Amino acid sequence: MGWSMRKGIVFDIKRYAIHDGPGIRTAVFFKGCTLRCWWCHNPEGLALQPELVFRESRCLNGCSECIGSCARGALSRVTQQISIKREDCDLCGECARVCPAEALEVIGREMSVGEVVKEIEKELIFYDQSAGGVTFTGGEPLMQPEFLGALVEECKARGIHTAVDTCGYAPFEVIQSISDKVDLFLYDLKIMDDEKHRQYTGASNKAILDNLRRLAAQGSTAVAVRLPLIPGVNDDSDNITKIAEFIASLRSIKDISLLPYHRAGSEKYRRLHRAYRLGKTQPPSGQQVEESKTILEERGLRVKVGG
Ligand code: SF4
Ligand code: SF4
Repeated sequence: MGWSMRKGIVFDIKRYAIHDGPGIRTAVFFKGCTLRCWWCHNPEGLALQPELVFRESRCLNGCSECIGSCARGALSRVTQQISIKREDCDLCGECARVCPAEALEVIGREMSVGEVVKEIEKELIFYDQSAGGVTFTGGEPLMQPEFLGALVEECKARGIHTAVDTCGYAPFEVIQSISDKVDLFLYDLKIMDDEKHRQYTGASNKAILDNLRRLAAQGSTAVAVRLPLIPGVNDDSDNITKIAEFIASLRSIKDISLLPYHRAGSEKYRRLHRAYRLGKTQPPSGQQVEESKTILEERGLRVKVGG
């Protein structure tokens, strides 16, 4: 199969992104993630497979167009809600097409490398003018390594700057297979205490830290660390200090972005009928952000607040 025919699952492509790497960028969101962070603001990207989502607040209730449109009988009305029998749904999307209120949506679709590259190329002029490019994000792009590798390859052949936004939880061989082609890794670090990392992300941080050590030791690709700042979870000075010391020990990494927690994703959990485990956690105050920034700067790191 040629590179451009290779397929993967994408759940969004955003143009004019300015928080996902340098300049103006196109962000390609890969579906599927290896972690389950409590604060994830893209829960629609967690499962690898496409999924049908029902937004109760948009539904006109009485109309029932969707129920009649489903050839597989997968939809029914339970009180005021549309109920989806997922084992019978083949994600054809017909119900979403007929719904007058956009209350149903299939999230995620299979795209070929050629189709994604065509979308990326539409903004070439902005990349040139702003020193921007494309960022592969998600979800976790490293979960679809062949698709990612082919996309990076195609972008490189066209002179388009590429960034990969990763949680780092993947076999190092996967990272290594693209590291000489990618221009920039945006590498997330969250919690240094392994027990706490397991609690809040569902996985150990050992491979994540080890992969970053190995990537930094190679020194062939630029790496910028991204640290989501979640009050009550990882914003204590002990954790920030340990992260600062760890990055400083790697020597080749100087840049870190502090990403203050926001609640924008919490509504999505309701739509997906999933529990939002951070409850009423509020964004950090300016002072909390400043304190973390100071700790990082004291270890010689260049700190940016925001993406
Ligand atoms: S996506 Fe297709 S199969 Fe699934 S509920 Fe809608 S119409 Fe039925
Ligand atoms: S077609 Fe849309 S608005 Fe009508 S009942 Fe179904 S989900 Fe609700």
